[in-house]
Formats: sequence, C-alpha cells, structure tokens
Amino acid sequence: YDYDLLVVGSANADLVIGVEQRPAAGETVLGSDLAVHPGGKGANQAVAAARLGARTALLARVGDDAHGRLLLDSQRDAGVDTAGVLVGGAPTGVALITVDPSGDNSIVVSLGANARLAPEDVRAAAGLLGASRVVSTQLEIPLESVVEVAKVVRDLPEGTTRLVLNPSPPQPLPEEVLAACDPLIVNEHEARVIAGDDLGDSPEDWARALLALGPRSVVVTLGAEGALVASAEGSVRVPAVKVEAVDTTGAGDAFTAALAWKLGQGESPADAAAYAARVGAVAVTRAGAQASFPTAEEVAAL
Ligand code: ATP
Repeated sequence: YDYDLLVVGSANADLVIGVEQRPAAGETVLGSDLAVHPGGKGANQAVAAARLGARTALLARVGDDAHGRLLLDSQRDAGVDTAGVLVGGAPTGVALITVDPSGDNSIVVSLGANARLAPEDVRAAAGLLGASRVVSTQLEIPLESVVEVAKVVRDLPEGTTRLVLNPSPPQPLPEEVLAACDPLIVNEHEARVIAGDDLGDSPEDWARALLALGPRSVVVTLGAEGALVASAEGSVRVPAVKVEAVDTTGAGDAFTAALAWKLGQGESPADAAAYAARVGAVAVTRAGAQASFPTAEEVAAL
C-alpha cells in the first residue's frame, strides 16, 4: 500500500467574523477582523490523520484561487499527499461564519468546487483508492461521487481497501453505499436521518436499526459520553476521556480519521475507537478544527 488512509471529501475556507449581534434581514453590522481557516470535513480528516503519523492522501477539488492555495498549503504542512487534489472548475468552497459573543453562529456555505468533485474524478482516481488501506469519505461532496467511491472499493479484490463513511451532512443513503461501509460512523442526528425516527431509545437500539440497513459495522459517537462500536457480533461502549472542553469543532473529524487509520492498521474496532476517543478528547481541549488536532506524542501524553 502507498497510503494508510485516503480521504475523499470536501475542502473549504472558513471565513469567520466575530459580531456583537448577528445581522437581521436588511441590516449591516460591523464585525471583527476576518479570520480565514482551512476547513471542510475531508480536508480536516486528512490533516488529522497525517498529524498522527498516518501516510495520508486527499482526493478533493478546490478552486484555482487563494483559498485553494491556503488549503493545499495546510495539507502539505501536515504531511498530506495532495497529488490527488484537483484544481479548478469553480471557486474553492467557503463557509461564511458570523459568531456572536455567546458563541452562537450563522453560517452560509458555498459548495463551490466541492460540488464539482464528480463520479468521473473518483473513477479516474481508482488506482489511488486501490493503493490505500482505508478510504474515508463524508457527504460534503455529491452523493453520486460517494456512490462511485463505494463501487470502486467494491470492485477491488476482496479485502483490498476498507471504506469508512461519516454521512455528514446526513441524507438517506442508497443500499450499495450502506453495504460497503465498515464502519458507518454517525452521531444521533445522522442516525435518525438515515434510519428514521423510530430508532429506539438507546445508542444500542440505534446501532441495531442501522445495522439492519446493511453496513458491516456501525460506530455511534456520543460527544462527552464517548462512542459505541457495533457489528453483527454485538456492541461495545467506549468511554470518553474526561477533559475540559474548550471547542468541540472538528472533534468528529479527528475521531473519524483516527478510527479509520487504526482499523487499517489491523486494530480491533474497540481498540481503534478507544484511540480515536483520545484523539477527539485532545481536539476538544483546543480552539479551532485543524489547529486543534494532536500529534501521536500529544495523544500519548493525555
Ligand atoms: P461534529 O460535531 O464535529 O460533527 P460528532 O457529533 O460527529 O462531531 P462527537 O460525538 O461530538 O462527534 O465527537 C466525536 C468523539 O470525540 C466522541 O465520540 C468522543 O470520543 C470525543 N469527544 C467529543 N466531545 C468530547 C468531550 N466533551 N469530552 C471528551 N471527549 C469528547
């Protein structure tokens, strides 16, 4: 294998302005200086994995613009192989974020180049998928492209590449995608959108409802309550590490990247999730998304 982990997903520039009060319709308000951060679930996961020491590549699309260069630079700084990042076709995706002093925010997302990461782009990168132990993807790119990822992985010789999916933002998923997930990684909201509202009360119930839809395994993330790992053999709770939470942004991406990497290294789902919970715990003790992701040494020191 050339890569421990290939992330197929989004790359966005997060444009953040602090305001006293978020503007109402027709209103103009003055805000703080602009802060520009690299983000998007795909870019975040790739940085998280590379920082832990995983040999990581990213398949994404950015614009031929300053935001695209910011994203490529932050990937390379973390050690991600960006040869698979496609450039052009539309402006880089952006999230326009206003945050008030209470921490409440209003966000406008422009998908931009993320919406142009097409099934043909995935098919053209089939060699990259086959050269990776694990492929991790999310839903901030077109669903048809996620379907293509599942097809390419399915058509590789059995056991070549493992597919991990965090279906965020959630939408109902086609059977061929669900059947390829090992695991499907969801929080409660994502579980409800995918399996319907009559899920039952406990995370064990949610996992059972999701497993009935076809994934080989399911991981439910529970924030400060940790996570649940489930397959046909049964389920195991993985406790969270107790920390002082400062900013939970990106915790889910850090958790997913760490879990995907460790599964590819042959760890059991319970051990991989326990490691991922430590990575998520470090991430919530620091501000920001990519800026909060730890190195392996920092995880060991927790
Ligand atoms: P996101 O909101 O980033 O999409 P998510 O809802 O998918 O995240 P969370 O459950 O919030 O994911 O976080 C992922 C993992 O990070 C959790 O399973 C847990 O192990 C760890 N984690 C999150 N919040 C905390 C916390 N407050 N304390 C300790 N660990 C945490």
